[in-house]
Amino acid sequence: MNKAVTLLAGALLGFTLIGNTANAGAYTVNNGDTLWKIAAANGIDFNELRSLNPSIGDWIYPGQTIRLPDLKAYTVQQGDTFWKIALKLGVTTRSLIDANPQIGNPDILNPGDRLNVPAKSLSTASTTAAAAADGQFPLKANTYKPYTNNFAEGRTWSPDGQEIRPHEGVDIFADKGTPVYSAKAGKIVRMGWNEYGGWRLTVQVDDATAFYYAHLSGYADGLALGGTVAQGQLIGYVGNTGYGPEGTEGLFDPHLHFGIYRTSPVWKAIDPYSFLTSVEKR
Ligand SMILES: [Zn+2]
Repeated sequence: MNKAVTLLAGALLGFTLIGNTANAGAYTVNNGDTLWKIAAANGIDFNELRSLNPSIGDWIYPGQTIRLPDLKAYTVQQGDTFWKIALKLGVTTRSLIDANPQIGNPDILNPGDRLNVPAKSLSTASTTAAAAADGQFPLKANTYKPYTNNFAEGRTWSPDGQEIRPHEGVDIFADKGTPVYSAKAGKIVRMGWNEYGGWRLTVQVDDATAFYYAHLSGYADGLALGGTVAQGQLIGYVGNTGYGPEGTEGLFDPHLHFGIYRTSPVWKAIDPYSFLTSVEKR
């Protein structure tokens, strides 16, 4: 009997320790990982991950421990359930409930309740990281000019001419009409005119990530909202559309504006530069 109790306590303790380790936010680097992949797999901003790991340079190695952000909080919205929130956050319902013992009855959530967000399991993270390893540069070699990371630079254009917005992507300059290819397979979730991006295309590439191609001069044939694109599929052509009502073009030099958004729990631009350079080198 005592032995059984000890075993049970040990099992519980073991479980708790594993849970705490995951919550403390450590990730062990696997073969083929990059900081960008780890950030994407865990839904973290690349720069945030960098700043959490100041001693780690551009090169990481298998077995190395990377610090991930501590538990984040989620505020319950009208109509939320544990199941819906877990889906949004890309975690299991079980882990979400377990991380929130303060909620007495998991069937009852009230708008405004604060929930702890559990770290994704390492197996989920590495599966997503493996998926993130796919991808290719959206333009063919020698069809574009050298580019720099101008993500988050201040931009002055806005509908009222006043607002200064951070730049939510990287600009790659190329001649008008240069073919643009899908950097990753996915589903077209936005297509058509946007006053910032002109003719633009947004492709959901996994549960939590969307790729954004803007200022196109035109789309490839056969694309449709809700349809899918394969990695490497021709999606359109470089242009200089946008910064105004439908049809506005020529206000800047032709370029592809390429962006990556984290889409869960809220849409947020993440720095695409590391992705671009990592797929470009292959
Ligand atoms: Zn841009």
